Amino acid sequence: MENNFYIKEKGLLIVISGPSGAGKGTVCKELLSKYPNLAVSVSATTRDPRPGEVEGKNYYFITKENFLDMIGNDEFLEYAKVYDNYYGTPSQSVIDMMDEGIDVILEIDIQGAAQVRSNYPEGIYIFVVPPSFSELRKRITERGTESEEQLNKRMNCAYDEIRNAKNYSYIVINDEVHVAADKIASIITAEKCRSNRL
Ligand code: 5GP
Repeated sequence: MENNFYIKEKGLLIVISGPSGAGKGTVCKELLSKYPNLAVSVSATTRDPRPGEVEGKNYYFITKENFLDMIGNDEFLEYAKVYDNYYGTPSQSVIDMMDEGIDVILEIDIQGAAQVRSNYPEGIYIFVVPPSFSELRKRITERGTESEEQLNKRMNCAYDEIRNAKNYSYIVINDEVHVAADKIASIITAEKCRSNRL
């Protein structure tokens, strides 16, 4: 039925952070499979692709020179150096999708989230955590893509990152993927019903 009460709304900007291994990617995939009006922004990164990762789907894999050019041309909504590599959100596609009314998820680290928050406080900020640190270590180990040194680096960063959870409006424990995805879907639904959005 046509809704005459409000003009076509812009899509929401949903920022999801959490330590590496918290399962943000899997939760986002589950969300996308259930909710059609949702997209995950594809970031640019200078890190090497992992086996199975697809250019333009998981990331745009670019050189450091290209990344620095994009910074110079002001093409990023936010960017950060995470674990020795650069990661950034190209702004234009996010703006276009939101203008079309699509809700856009940014799966980004805490530094990037802080940049977005300072420019766009009306975004929805969600922090995803694993049920425990031992489960986190297990998940990163099972992924099998990190060396022992990288694993330890990611675990140390996780302790710092989790201290940042208080800066987010919502904290979702990712024990079971479908439960975590349902919780995030409920958050999005509630945010869409906010009286100040009408
Ligand atoms: P990974 O190398 O495991 O794919 O990602 C490492 C970290 O970089 C994760 O915390 C991920 O959320 C973050 N990340 C991925 N894309 C971006 C981005 O565009 N900007 C920022 N700031 N962080 C990102």
